[in-house]
Amino acid sequence: MAHTSATATSARPGWVYLVGAGPGDPELLTIKAARLIAEADVIVYDNLVSDDILDMAAPKAERLYAGKERGNHSLPQEQINQLLVRLAREGKAVVRLKGGDPYTFGRGGEEVETLHSDGVPFEVVPGITAAAGVAAYAGIPLTHRNHAQACVFVTGHLKDGSMNLDWPGLARKRQTVVIYMGLHGLPHLCEKLMEHGLPPDWPAAIVQHGTRPTQRTVTGTLTTLPGIADAANLKAPTLIIVGSVVTLREQLRWHEEAGK
Ligand code: SAH
Repeated sequence: MAHTSATATSARPGWVYLVGAGPGDPELLTIKAARLIAEADVIVYDNLVSDDILDMAAPKAERLYAGKERGNHSLPQEQINQLLVRLAREGKAVVRLKGGDPYTFGRGGEEVETLHSDGVPFEVVPGITAAAGVAAYAGIPLTHRNHAQACVFVTGHLKDGSMNLDWPGLARKRQTVVIYMGLHGLPHLCEKLMEHGLPPDWPAAIVQHGTRPTQRTVTGTLTTLPGIADAANLKAPTLIIVGSVVTLREQLRWHEEAGK
């Protein structure tokens, strides 16, 4: 079979590569991501991208920080979009580097829409999204024939103090729910899931810094997790996983033991 990678050429000047950096562990980068990072003239990166990954760029490559941390949007989205267009038009090979996967809660779609409408050529390189990376390193299979036949990813970002989610659709057994950006809204989330029918002792976990050396996981139930998380003083980024698959961690955990 012919080797048909359409893009195994060098990073091209005047192009933007929207690249997923994965959840933290640099070894979870794709080969394509690693190559483009090493070849880029300029890297425009988010706060979730680890230093080890930025260190893979060429010494002469320009590194531009674009944000964002909770409540501290360093560059408004529209300015990031325009920055990418400008850099490409200057003839640079631009890598736009995002944590996880660019098309999963990453606003990658918005950036590519601007590139498309401004006629800037681009490619998208998927990354391991936090749900996949964190679940693997926390010992929590997202699906399992005895537990969950479906898995839903949602954002727990609070808008006006509440979450606008499809609660009846989420509060289901035999399904795993993964909540991105949910730490702040954890009490609200647990309350709503119980209100819509999940039992008070339904398992749930929260994982800090998944796939990184500082990974920590706490587990509990919809009733106990908010208090446990509070006491654990967790630091962002954190991912919440709700479902009976969480109980498998007892046997399947491996990463947090590795360093001990
Ligand atoms: N595009 C990213 C998600 C960006 S939204 C992806 O595909 O993973 C940012 C949220 O992702 C964080 O608030 C957190 O919920 C989650 N996240 C990203 N990296 C994480 C990590 N290493 N550990 C735990 N959660 C993480």
